[in-house]
Amino acid sequence: MSLTYRAAVLHKAGAPLSIESVTTSGPSPDDVVVRMKAASLCHTDLEVIDGSLRYPLPMILGHEASGIVEEIGSDVTGIRVGDHVVLSWNPHCGHCFHCDRGQPILCETYLEEGPKGLHFDGRSKAALGSGQPLTHLMFLGAFAEVCVLPAQQVVVVPKDMPFDRSCLIGCGVMTGVGAALNVADIRHGDTVMVFGCGAVGLAAIQGAAMAGAENIIAVDLDDAKLARAATMGATQRINASTQDPVEAAGAATKGRGVDVVLESAGHPTAFRQTTEAVRPGGEVIWLGKIDVAKDVSFRWGSLMGEKRLRRSSYGGARPRRDFPLLAQAYLDGKLKLDELITGRIALDQINSGFDLLRQGKTIRTVITF
Ligand SMILES: [Zn+2]
Ligand SMILES: [Zn+2]
Repeated sequence: MSLTYRAAVLHKAGAPLSIESVTTSGPSPDDVVVRMKAASLCHTDLEVIDGSLRYPLPMILGHEASGIVEEIGSDVTGIRVGDHVVLSWNPHCGHCFHCDRGQPILCETYLEEGPKGLHFDGRSKAALGSGQPLTHLMFLGAFAEVCVLPAQQVVVVPKDMPFDRSCLIGCGVMTGVGAALNVADIRHGDTVMVFGCGAVGLAAIQGAAMAGAENIIAVDLDDAKLARAATMGATQRINASTQDPVEAAGAATKGRGVDVVLESAGHPTAFRQTTEAVRPGGEVIWLGKIDVAKDVSFRWGSLMGEKRLRRSSYGGARPRRDFPLLAQAYLDGKLKLDELITGRIALDQINSGFDLLRQGKTIRTVITF
């Protein structure tokens, strides 16, 4: 069955998104049709709009989203019409070299199809009114009233989970909490330093607290974000515009350096400071990113001392395992999500939402449908 719905379309990098009527031909046998209820604005969307992350256009952006299942393909099992779901952006084949080694984020099909902006089955799932096929960011394209996608990217969560909060689990919260719980080896009583207090960093602070960290040092350039970090479990705040995070790491640990650094600032200076702030034998997890063509320099000595340095893009996510756990943690009062939302807007206001994100003053702006 063909569906017509409204979507925010990017025709050209640097240009505003335009709200247009688009169509989809409905689900393939393995697909699910999700009626979107909430989608939040993430930095990765902004990188595509501003042109530092390049994809074939025209494209529907949006990859942090939740909704209600409206229709399922004939081969779909385990998902029912009416289920409340959070969308995952890491489909994987389950049987390639990297999938066999437990690294779905490196799945060969995922890495091959992603840059084309197509879905995991190699197809476009939506077209402009003119018939021109659209591409989809990160196998989703969630800034739209409807999203058609493979069932493996649709994760059922409890129905008492509010949509505008559950959507956050799909990218930023998963990445931050997952970095602390799935990727880093945080031990009870550890001192953890978190660089960057946006949505991912604030989630990382909460994950570090869940993992048993005793001291959590939050680093940012913005006092308002640091104040928010304190409400998420940070025990010390460092404004890097006036204080040196590396000195603070030493002062908090008798000069040793912190046990674990979780980085989500995405800046060359922060990257350099992470390896200086961690103790010998400690661990650095980089979550932030810069233009992939740019260089970052490190003092060689700061990399020595058996330090473990690792980049992670989705916090070791296994969405069908982790999304329901994160949703339950919220419902049990153990994970703060309300405090990450700094604004709610309609789809038509999406460009002003991205203007605010560009200014760096928001944590998460959520589109509610
Ligand atoms: Zn994201
Ligand atoms: Zn694979």
